[in-house]
Amino acid sequence: MASKPVPVPTPETKPFWDGCAAGELRIQRCTDCGRPYFYPRPVCPHCGSADVEWFTVSGDATLYSYVISHRPAPGFTDDVPYAIAVVQLAEGPRMMTNIVGLPATPEALELDMPLRVRFEQRGDVSLPVFAPAEAAAKAEAEAEAAR
Ligand SMILES: [Zn+2]
Repeated sequence: MASKPVPVPTPETKPFWDGCAAGELRIQRCTDCGRPYFYPRPVCPHCGSADVEWFTVSGDATLYSYVISHRPAPGFTDDVPYAIAVVQLAEGPRMMTNIVGLPATPEALELDMPLRVRFEQRGDVSLPVFAPAEAAAKAEAEAEAAR
């Protein structure tokens, strides 16, 4: 059976993947116009400045759009149906990802629903996916209580 493809970090995306490995979602912002952006690139897409920096975002997002895939990509046979989504980060930029922690149905996937990032290990890379914020808060509270 085919295994899931694993992203290969490049010099431009390495800080993003390093953040994921540390359990942090990191994107870039422009230090000239101040606007955050994603995907990673060395020049601000808003004003063209090369003065950009990495920072860690809150991990909060809302569901912007999605499709439910019933035909698995290679390696995703066990996951169908699954949600391929675009989420809007609380900081503004949008990100393509998967929604986990709820059924991949139109009834469960409510546009604008609050989501929170979590990380899934795949090979050597940790990947950001998003789960309903309520479930994420509950899991964090339980982990806290178990300490
Ligand atoms: Zn800019």
